[in-house]
Amino acid sequence: MTEETRQRGLRTTAIHAGEAPDPATGASAPNLVMSTTYVLDRPLGFSAQDRGEAAPYIYTRWGNPTVRQLEDKLAALEGAESGLCFASGMAASTALLLGLLSAGDHLVASDTNYAGTAELMRKTLPRLGIAVSPVDTSDPAAVEAALRPETRLVWAETPANPILRLSDIAALAGIARKAGAKLAVDSTFATPVATRPIDLGADFVVHALTKYIGGHGDALGGAVLGRKADLDALNLEAIIHHGGILSPFNAWLILRGAATLPLRMAAHEAGALEVARFLEGHPRVAKVLYPGLPSHPQHALAKRQMANFSGMIAFQPKDDGPALAARMAETLEIVHYAVSLGHHRSLIYWIGTDDVMASSFALEGAQLAAYRTFAGNGIFRLSVGLEDPEDLCRDLDQALSAG
Ligand code: PLP
Repeated sequence: MTEETRQRGLRTTAIHAGEAPDPATGASAPNLVMSTTYVLDRPLGFSAQDRGEAAPYIYTRWGNPTVRQLEDKLAALEGAESGLCFASGMAASTALLLGLLSAGDHLVASDTNYAGTAELMRKTLPRLGIAVSPVDTSDPAAVEAALRPETRLVWAETPANPILRLSDIAALAGIARKAGAKLAVDSTFATPVATRPIDLGADFVVHALTKYIGGHGDALGGAVLGRKADLDALNLEAIIHHGGILSPFNAWLILRGAATLPLRMAAHEAGALEVARFLEGHPRVAKVLYPGLPSHPQHALAKRQMANFSGMIAFQPKDDGPALAARMAETLEIVHYAVSLGHHRSLIYWIGTDDVMASSFALEGAQLAAYRTFAGNGIFRLSVGLEDPEDLCRDLDQALSAG
């Protein structure tokens, strides 16, 4: 990347980075290359191991021009040297964890994160001989205390799904570096518009592109961003050998979504702030968690670490959560009662604390108590979309006030 490119604003970067007009046709929009194979002008080796830096495109699992454009755009947005895309957010997380960790290694990870990540860390990694310590990463001292000589990686998700608890990336990066471990941050809820973990000292950033970066709920995808040397090693093992690559068609859709990310995030934030204030004043709502509200217990850290508070809200109702969830599923007219997040459509979902402890997190003692200070017996996770916020408030009000 040239110095001039590095100095561009995020909106320009989101639109132009990674893309160039097609040299054959002059096409201005990115080409969608679905070909699995490429015609060569000379014979090359048959193993991916043998291809050099300057190798042409050979086979789409080894590299694809549409996917490459997205990888370059994401790297530019995150201020990373390099990026790799995967078939889903989970494929990206799995690739990084299995690419870095071996039997005998130790992982310190957020005790609250996306349920799939939590389940992978609780069940699959220990089966492979990798020790995992789930820790409340919002407390840097707890992370420091959990380190062992064999700790290779610290993993934080901030803001954490589903309770919007934050972790101080700069503090964790310092702690990991001192211990000779690397820091990976799942920054899906923040996006590079809010937070650039690499600037704060993280070694890897992980994204579920399925969420804000794609932004339209029509393409699964994932990415890992970081140093070129680290990602080159991951490329051979996790992309070429494990094979969980991003479809070029999904890359093309996500490229289109990523181009408007900064504009969409500004609108998500403005809408979420209005809806969060409305919920905070609602008589049937007990507690609202939104990093942009002064009532969020880590609002000071949010202001320091997030240039945009994103569009995710968690709230506890005064009424019985499951009954209200059933009412919402039946009566909401604009907000979809559905999982996922970061789409242009608003989405809401009930996450009961006992349920999520039994299926995903299994926290006990002080860690369970810390989770409950955010979530109580359960929360509604609301992904505020790009609709008019007044319409969202009216829709939520009719569901909250009925019954
Ligand atoms: N990371 C976070 C924070 C998520 O919320 C999710 C999915 O909800 C994932 C990772 C996994 O992404 P995907 O569903 O694309 O596999």
